[in-house]
Amino acid sequence: MRESIYNNHDIEAAKIIDDFLPDKLFDAHMHITHLDSLYDGRKSFDDYYDDIKLFAKNREVRCNGIVYPDDSLKIPAELAKSHSFLVEELNKHPQNVGEIIVFPSDTVCDIEARLLHPNIKGLKCYCFYAECEDKYEATIDEYLPESAWEVSGKRKMPITLHLVKKECLAHPDNLNYIIKMAKKYPDAVLILAHAARAFATWTVFGTVDKLVDLENVWFDFSAICETPAILYIIKKVGVSRCMWGTDYPVATILGKPISLGNTFAWLNEGNFPNGFPLRHIFTEEFMAMRELSILADFDKSQIEDIFYNNAVKLFVCK
Ligand SMILES: [Zn+2]
Repeated sequence: MRESIYNNHDIEAAKIIDDFLPDKLFDAHMHITHLDSLYDGRKSFDDYYDDIKLFAKNREVRCNGIVYPDDSLKIPAELAKSHSFLVEELNKHPQNVGEIIVFPSDTVCDIEARLLHPNIKGLKCYCFYAECEDKYEATIDEYLPESAWEVSGKRKMPITLHLVKKECLAHPDNLNYIIKMAKKYPDAVLILAHAARAFATWTVFGTVDKLVDLENVWFDFSAICETPAILYIIKKVGVSRCMWGTDYPVATILGKPISLGNTFAWLNEGNFPNGFPLRHIFTEEFMAMRELSILADFDKSQIEDIFYNNAVKLFVCK
């Protein structure tokens, strides 16, 4: 077991978080990987359980383990290793589910050939795999194939989508695509990761409104460390399609992303003088969820829904 990453500021916050957390947690967005080189070798569900222990204590914790979308997975042999690792991990931890990678050129057969374990319950696309020059400005259909929607609809298997483009949900190409495809495939489910990647808070204001009636569009709040965007989503969409997540192992970084100017910035030790009381993203995410529950007047059952029941409904009981 590696040394704990946490400092005294995390440990102090963990006491406050402990009073608020429900008895059971289901992390809707965390990553596992066969690669040794990422995040100080954090790869497996066991690594995750070690790192979340400060907060989870003896609570039941289940996860959706999304294969980490590394660039190297374009190489078929690396992709196969990555998916074999997921299968091994799901065998070791049958309480958990996982998501496989889909590529822009995939057919339905390509995707179904990767469903190697009954607990593989979702599909993950990522902009790195788009063919275009500027991956972070890719349109969704350049990295999410329509075949994924077909598989999602047929098997009730959610697609986790990390939006790109500077304006995220406020870019009409993104918003119009989501509306069009969610209507075309009503049995498919789309999860907009990181609250529709609302690190720049303004991008969801006035835009999430257009998704309110689309019952098959969900949100995970992973890596979001501030409350305005997630509070806005809750006010518009309600609790039933929103889920807590950590984006582990990203959650083990010190600092947090903040909305800044018309964009966002990831703050870390480099932005502050020595000794500044920074905490890890894990801590900041939990604190943001606690603030959200206070601001939105959540009752106990709504906290249980967002931290556990909604994810079970989506990933396990279909
Ligand atoms: Zn992620």
